Order: sequence, then C-alpha cells, then structure tokens
Amino acid sequence: MSYRVKEIFYSLQGEGANTGRGAVFVRFSGCNLWSGCESDRAAATCKFCDTDFVGTDGGGGGVYETAGELVGAVVEAFPQGGDNSMASQLFVVCTGGEPLLQLDAALIAALHAAGCQIAVETNGTIAAPDGIDWITVSPKPNTTLVQRSGHELKLVYPIDELAPSDFENLPFERFYIQPLDPQTSDGDNCENVKIARDFCLANPQWRLSLQMHKILGIR
Ligand code: SF4
Repeated sequence: MSYRVKEIFYSLQGEGANTGRGAVFVRFSGCNLWSGCESDRAAATCKFCDTDFVGTDGGGGGVYETAGELVGAVVEAFPQGGDNSMASQLFVVCTGGEPLLQLDAALIAALHAAGCQIAVETNGTIAAPDGIDWITVSPKPNTTLVQRSGHELKLVYPIDELAPSDFENLPFERFYIQPLDPQTSDGDNCENVKIARDFCLANPQWRLSLQMHKILGIR
C-alpha cells in the first residue's frame, strides 16, 4: 500500500516516558475522529486537537508508494542520515492524525530492518499490529477503547468524559496525566496545570506529563 504522510522531522520527544529523547517523527495524514478542518471541529468526535494532520504538504511529507521508500526518508531525517553505528538509537515516533490507519506489517518490518525502534501515539480506537516497540494510547471522549494495553496511557486532563478511574486498571506500564492545552479549549492553561498537578499529587499512580516541546519552543 502507499502511505500518506503530512511531515517527517527530527526533534525531541516532548511527552511521556520518552521525554527528552531524540526521535524522528512521522506524522501520518488523516484521523478517524476529525477531518482536521476547523469548520468540522464542533461536530467532530475529538474536539480539542492542536495538530495539523491534513494533506501531505509538510517538510518530508508526501505520498510514499512503498514501505521501503518511506523508511528511506525516515532514516535520512536522523542526524548523519541514520549512520548504522546509531542503530539502537534510531527512535521513530509514528504519530498523526491517527497513525494506526496506515502503520502496517510491511512498514513495521521495513523500519525494524533499518534498525529503528518504533513508537506509536494512538487514540486507541484501532488495534495496534504486532511488532510495535512502544505503544502510547491517549483515549478520547465518546469513543470505544480498542487498544486496551500498552507501554503508557496518557490522559488529557481535565475532560469531563474522561475519568482517570475508568482507565487505571488497564494493563499499561505507566499512566500519565497531561494538562488540557488552552489553545483548543476554553480553559486556562495555568489552571489546568495546577489541576493536573494536584491530581497527580493525590493519585501517585498517575504521573504529570507536560508538553516539553512547547515549553522549549520546538516542534
Ligand atoms: S484523535 Fe488525535 S489526531 Fe485525531 S483529532 Fe483527536 S487529537 Fe487530533
């Protein structure tokens, strides 16, 4: 199959347990919970998205006809073009949009053959294929959680329809609370950070995840 990619870029992971780790991000186009058009936001299942995942016009974006072609672009995006000596450090974060609409066995095999570790950031409405090295699930309101296990569960907070208690018994290794970004909500960011901080202090199963890339002013 071909792969529609919005952009590919190298940066530091800003969220969750891999915060601060250099990674190539592959932002796949499209999501099953929102068209990505502002005119559709009010009617979308997921209303607080802060990501442009529409089209293929970002840096490194495009329609890649084969898994090999896409992996070539991913490896090129690493410093030194993914020199083999870095093999165990080639950390690739598949994000979106919803990456599990496109991440398939062929792409997983091709990334592994190139020495990459594969992480995925998913809304959890689609089952993850075998072979992914790091699964982050971020549940969204009014959806059915299909991918119910993984390495970390990240909950945007506070959102009325997403109660942490509904998720804390699922088999994830780590649980994160991430303050709701005010850009896409009516809330106050400082207030949301305080609410999230206080929740984590009172519920130590949950750890606080701030979006470090926004604090640093990087992508
Ligand atoms: S599921 Fe993720 S990518 Fe899709 S609209 Fe929601 S926040 Fe955006």
